[in-house]
Amino acid sequence: MEEIESVFKLLEKTLPGYEVRPQQIKMAGEVYSTFLNKDRLIVEAGTGVGKSFAYLIPAILTQKKTIISTASIALQDQLVNKDLLFLQKALPQKFSYAILKGKNNYLCLKREREFSELSSDFMNFRKWTMETKTGDKDELSYLPEFWSKVCGDSDDCNVVKCTYYKDCYYYRHYRSLYRKDILVVNHHLLVFDLLSDFNLLPFHEQLVIDEAHQIEDVISHVMGSILNHSRITWLLYRLRSLKISVEHIFESVDSFFKRKDIPPHAFYPIPQDIIDGVIKLHSVLSLNNVLERLDNYNEEELNDELSDKIQTTKKYIKSLEFTINEFIEQDDRNKVYFVTGNKGKIELKSNLIESGKHFLALEKGFESLVMTSATLATGGSFFFFKQRLGIKDFKEMIIGSPFNYHKQALLYIDRDLPPPDKENNDLFMKESLKVIEALIRASKGRALVLFTSYKHLDYAAEHISIDYPFKSQGKMPPSRMIDWFKKTPNSVLLATTTFWQGIDIKGEDLSLVIIVKMPFGSPGDPVYDERCKRLGDRWFSDLALPSAILMLRQGFGRLIRSSSDYGVVAILDSRLLKSSYGKIILSSLPDLKIANDISEVEKFFLSI
Ligand code: SF4
Repeated sequence: MEEIESVFKLLEKTLPGYEVRPQQIKMAGEVYSTFLNKDRLIVEAGTGVGKSFAYLIPAILTQKKTIISTASIALQDQLVNKDLLFLQKALPQKFSYAILKGKNNYLCLKREREFSELSSDFMNFRKWTMETKTGDKDELSYLPEFWSKVCGDSDDCNVVKCTYYKDCYYYRHYRSLYRKDILVVNHHLLVFDLLSDFNLLPFHEQLVIDEAHQIEDVISHVMGSILNHSRITWLLYRLRSLKISVEHIFESVDSFFKRKDIPPHAFYPIPQDIIDGVIKLHSVLSLNNVLERLDNYNEEELNDELSDKIQTTKKYIKSLEFTINEFIEQDDRNKVYFVTGNKGKIELKSNLIESGKHFLALEKGFESLVMTSATLATGGSFFFFKQRLGIKDFKEMIIGSPFNYHKQALLYIDRDLPPPDKENNDLFMKESLKVIEALIRASKGRALVLFTSYKHLDYAAEHISIDYPFKSQGKMPPSRMIDWFKKTPNSVLLATTTFWQGIDIKGEDLSLVIIVKMPFGSPGDPVYDERCKRLGDRWFSDLALPSAILMLRQGFGRLIRSSSDYGVVAILDSRLLKSSYGKIILSSLPDLKIANDISEVEKFFLSI
């Protein structure tokens, strides 16, 4: 512990504006002892604790190779471009670090040479390919729609046997990682490593999973599969380049995937006419015949490039064949199969329902493990989080926020609006808009309004009447919306899912967060529905309520981001006051003053 304390004292001298926080030192001490004892720890660290330093510093002190996994790009950027950069300069301990993203984030030299398109996007893209030194898609100001056809794809990659391997952007970067002490990755890559029998990430002993509340859904997603238009058309282009006649197939593929009647939400079970369509497509593709033709090539007569092309195409076909059969048979009881729409085309997807077994396999791959987030507990307990992942013997710790919520914030709960249930939905949409407008007038804009559905968001965006500039989600990428919000005085953001978590706007720019409705999982979400079904009578207490509480706490956490922030969180869902579970929800929020009258909100804003 002394070692930890002395490092934080050093930070006080070297990092301008840094203040030692007892909560941060407490967390760092516990993480350090977890690493030293090769143990496992779950730690919830409230907003403002400074959890990234509280796990990075112990990782550096142990001098053991550590993987840090996060869910959001924003946190990865903060770790790599701010925290680790600073610690490397400030600490006497020497260490190296790097970030690794999935292969599909990098330009694939082989696939790029095969692809061409007559469009201005392609011209700009070509210009970039000639200038880039990293091949990282983050350098592109706009991600072209054809990116999936030119990025790295494990099914079409022969690694060392690829003729471009030496210059490959992904593997050039990858080869340098074995020497790094700290490796920052995202949850997708971490779980994909498990799928690849831990062959992807270089050997590291310690693992930190930050934003750990998202790991269950990432496992569910990565362990699933997808069948879509671009996956098949890419194969057709490849076969055409191998002089295999496929022209007659394009039309069937287009007519199966491109539809006018795509509903806005996922739907399941997959209707029989779509399954029949997959069977027909399977027969038109006639993948076994194609494989036979590829087998007929005499490997010895081929140059390296052609040989690699044939081998990877066979690998790609086998993987596609497996996926197509998966959707025809749908016989894995651990998965849910459904259909979604994406840019005018249908996509068939499967997701894992329960992630526990895979999480346990993942954690066994590491000597020590720390799981952390600002929101892991419900009602002061990790029961829900542990139950979802099948966790048993982990050490536990909850570290509260150092912020003074009682002084810095006010919680407004509306008690007069109709409950936002099925029967009252339209009335609630109408009436709640008046309250939203009144609250925004009181805060003079500077507000983030969080909805639980696009339907409600679109209604509000169309009918809202306020004297402040506003934008609604869906009109531009989230990062550009946030930039606009920060640059535009007294502005308002109307948003849904992605804005509930990971948004960090400090200061007066964001002084009001309105949570329109309790974020219960939406019936119709295939994975959520299946999980509820399997829980039987316990679906509400064991899943719906705790997951809504975690999401609510995430939304709530957008408001106070520093000790000098002030503001109001308004919840317009009267069920918080009138239902039997309202008390459980309230007990999960920080202790702060509650108001039920908008005049109190006005007074609060006048007082600061
Ligand atoms: S090794 Fe070859 S196929 Fe694989 S990502 Fe690199 S360039 Fe692409």
